[in-house]
Amino acid sequence: MTQGLVIAAYIVAALLFIFSLAGLSKQETAKIGNYCGISGMTIALIATIASDSVNGLGWIILAMVIGGSIGLYLAKKVEMTQMPELIAILHSFVGLTAVFVGINSFIDSSVVSSDMHFIHLIEVFLGIFIGAVTFTGSIVAYGKLSGKIKSAPLVLSHKNLLNIGALVVSLLLMIWFVQVESCLPLIAILIIALLFGWHLVASIGGADMPVVISMLNSYSGWAAAAAGFMLGNDLLIVTGALVGSSGAILSYIMCQAMNRSFISVIAGGFGNENISAVGDEAGEYKEVNADEVAELLKNASSVVITPGYGMAVAQAQYPVAEMIKKLRDQGIDVRFGIHPVAGRLPGHMNVLLAEAKVPYDIVLEMDEINDDFANTDIVLVIGANDTVNPAAKTDPNSPIAGMPVLEVWNAKDVIIFKRSMNTGYAGVQNPLFFNENSAMYFGDAKDSVDEIIKRL
Ligand code: NDP
Repeated sequence: MTQGLVIAAYIVAALLFIFSLAGLSKQETAKIGNYCGISGMTIALIATIASDSVNGLGWIILAMVIGGSIGLYLAKKVEMTQMPELIAILHSFVGLTAVFVGINSFIDSSVVSSDMHFIHLIEVFLGIFIGAVTFTGSIVAYGKLSGKIKSAPLVLSHKNLLNIGALVVSLLLMIWFVQVESCLPLIAILIIALLFGWHLVASIGGADMPVVISMLNSYSGWAAAAAGFMLGNDLLIVTGALVGSSGAILSYIMCQAMNRSFISVIAGGFGNENISAVGDEAGEYKEVNADEVAELLKNASSVVITPGYGMAVAQAQYPVAEMIKKLRDQGIDVRFGIHPVAGRLPGHMNVLLAEAKVPYDIVLEMDEINDDFANTDIVLVIGANDTVNPAAKTDPNSPIAGMPVLEVWNAKDVIIFKRSMNTGYAGVQNPLFFNENSAMYFGDAKDSVDEIIKRL
């Protein structure tokens, strides 16, 4: 394929990626957004493979077959609740790739003209730095999301000093590297960046993980852009920049939604040294059974359901959809209140409820429903915990302090569907469970809702 055709194909692919991002910003257009992304990537791959500069087509096809098969297998096998950890591990691959591209283009810098040599060295250095931070940061995120690493923040003494020190040493190493052009500073930055990435994400507590995921998404974009610079591939630069900036915007929006400081989160929990994790039970709680819940529901005129991660784990969205249909048929006003970080990925609850064909118009965002709880008869908290925790408003030392929450406690009655008195993802006990107007309905969310359907 001639260079002109390759550039034309790259422009089409870049436009399709932009349409893809635009499509993904709304539920109704998300599907078409996905198709645009797939088409763009197909065009980009074909153009790159068919371009004159590519050697070893056989190796590329072999790598694509192996990688594609693993990807297909994982995509079919993965549960919706495991998506965030899959995304985290995929980000780590992007980081690792940038590190390999960096090392490779340092060893083989024959493609670069001599007047670009200085810039190329900086690209190599930054590519390795960003790639290594993304790599270990994503691995820690994977560990935290899959429960293999504790979600509580790692608090090393002088952690902010350590982070700032790492950045200063990195800068000095970059100056040394462009002067001596040897492997030594590169190996040193690789080790520092790996440790820095690890520490940065390990220092962030459970409740701030949503921001960390989108932040790593952004880093992986910058790592890809850095690889694009090193390889002299314009499309990779554009794609990396799109992912990098959209991830950064998403992180910022999520920080605002969770009342978190963007700088504090990207700086590894800067300024969060005084938080205390509280996991002990506090006070007495009431327990109710399916008969009592069904009876309460039959006598209610307005019901709000606030789903959370537990609904996703139990796959309870289908019986929930059936239950609300029965309630609505009996003339009861039923709505959903969705917290922006309920579940384990942005929009998690919206996806599950759409899957179960719950009408969009009764699914409301937190801000739209929060003032209505005072006029609600019953709130059913189905597998949610941190997102309905009043400690976020009342305890300034709580890890979730300041995070806006669904103010379910203002309703007449609150029924909490979960299996035990265990804490949520942030590892914080929930005072809601011990309120006068709250009652626990223990059991797997799907079984519990099934029991209620039988009684309605
Ligand atoms: P939480 O993780 O706070 O709580 C979920 C609750 O569900 C648990 O307390 C658990 O209690 C219960 N549960 C688990 N399995 C079942 C089951 N089979 N049946 C019934 N209940 C079950 O959920 P939230 O959605 O309220 O909050 C999400 C948390 O995850 C927040 O802290 C958020 O910051 C974090 N997060 C969100 C991400 C996002 O992008 N949305 C990404 C990463 C983290 P029990 O064990 O007693 O049943």
